[in-house]
Amino acid sequence: MNRRTKIVATLGPATDDPAILRKLLRAGVDVVRLNFSHGKLADQQRRAAAVRSAAAELGLDIALLADLQGPKIRIESFAKGAVELAEGQRFTLDTALAADAGDEQAVGCAYKELPQDVRAGDVLLLNDGVISMRVDAVEGTRVSCTVLLGGTLSNRKGINKQGGGLTAAALTDKDKEDLKAAVALDVDFIAVSFPRDAADMDLARQLLRDADGNAMLVAKIERAEALGNLRELIAASDVVMVARGDLGVEIGDAELPGWQKRIIAESREQNKMVITATQMMESMISNPVPTRAEVLDVANAVMDGTDAVMLSAETAAGKYPVKTVEAMARVCAGAELTLPPSQPRDSLRQDAHFARTDEAIAMAAAWTAKNMHAQAIIALTESGSTALMMARTESVIPIYALTPRERTRRRMALCRGVYPVAFAKGGDAPNVVREAIEVLRYRGVLAEGRRVLITKGDGAGSGGTNLLKIMTVENHS
Ligand code: PGA
Ligand code: MN
Repeated sequence: MNRRTKIVATLGPATDDPAILRKLLRAGVDVVRLNFSHGKLADQQRRAAAVRSAAAELGLDIALLADLQGPKIRIESFAKGAVELAEGQRFTLDTALAADAGDEQAVGCAYKELPQDVRAGDVLLLNDGVISMRVDAVEGTRVSCTVLLGGTLSNRKGINKQGGGLTAAALTDKDKEDLKAAVALDVDFIAVSFPRDAADMDLARQLLRDADGNAMLVAKIERAEALGNLRELIAASDVVMVARGDLGVEIGDAELPGWQKRIIAESREQNKMVITATQMMESMISNPVPTRAEVLDVANAVMDGTDAVMLSAETAAGKYPVKTVEAMARVCAGAELTLPPSQPRDSLRQDAHFARTDEAIAMAAAWTAKNMHAQAIIALTESGSTALMMARTESVIPIYALTPRERTRRRMALCRGVYPVAFAKGGDAPNVVREAIEVLRYRGVLAEGRRVLITKGDGAGSGGTNLLKIMTVENHS
């Protein structure tokens, strides 16, 4: 089945068997996530190498995404393992308590600023909101609380503040080291966790430059503060992630669906790629089929216009990683067939103004392809930006990004509706259009007599895309 929406899968112990990894990639994974919140650097290096060799063996352009841990605030550990907290009981978070000295009354916290960031009346959410407590008083290093929702609390669970407002900077010392390690691994995307605003992304970009890296930067929207700075934050990023896990904890579940739609729409509007993440197929961690609610959630993200849907523990630590990817691929393809009639985005309006030549060509190609019922658009591209802009129009016509650059092909692996294809020639080479059509005919995606549109640069001026050609597929053999 033809699928336009892309799949990001997190690697972990459940995908370490090389045979499983190969099956996972064949089932339709486009991008793999290396989660720097878990495991050692050696694990990330080993997994990156395994993906590269499996992708080469299978002839697939699979991108790598390194996801930095960020300032996730966690409790420390308990002396005797997990504790049971009952509704109404007192419980203290104490930044001076030893890391392994937690008990039923109190537990440590490595984030030393916690007492400064909270005040009486605040609600703290632990373990993704499974447990909540109200702050009664702050004295020195001690934050004393009353448990509102009890349950089992185990070692190193996360802490969020309802409504946001924990002041931790987005890039920790560990993140800065991991960013350099990710550059050394030559990953295609680096995700910044918990950015508050554009300045956090600018800092990440500076660190990336200092390390001579050229990965695309992903802003994970997972803090209440980020929503107030959404437009600028997205402008400072290359890719956006609707990080529903932490975001949902901070803003509450009632507001989450609306924000998902707004974040996706704003990302597309700004010609950025966007990933929808967390709990999409959660029950498949232990079951071989998704729930109806999960099917509808994935389909809804597709209808919202996301470029990609992401799997976390489902693939990293679940019982059915391959079945989960298969189910997700199936649901995406089905949802695409039943999309509501597309709304032409702003740049396809009559009164649009194109500042750039390549944007004008991209929009002309998308509009013409749609109205000519063309079979495909072929973008002969260096950076992939023409293909990306065409893909923002929600066209149902496949866009083939032909490029000699492996980096560009891997970036396009994340882009909805765009299929990366290795092609040795640049747009200004002689006979390039005919050869491009031949490459796709050989793949069986073009039929004789159908129309195709080709965009390319002729090497003049800045060298970017400046030509649109319309061809009919002919039989040259
Ligand atoms: P995480 O980010 O999986 O790294 O926590 C995604 C999210 O919070 O949804
Ligand atoms: Mn998160």
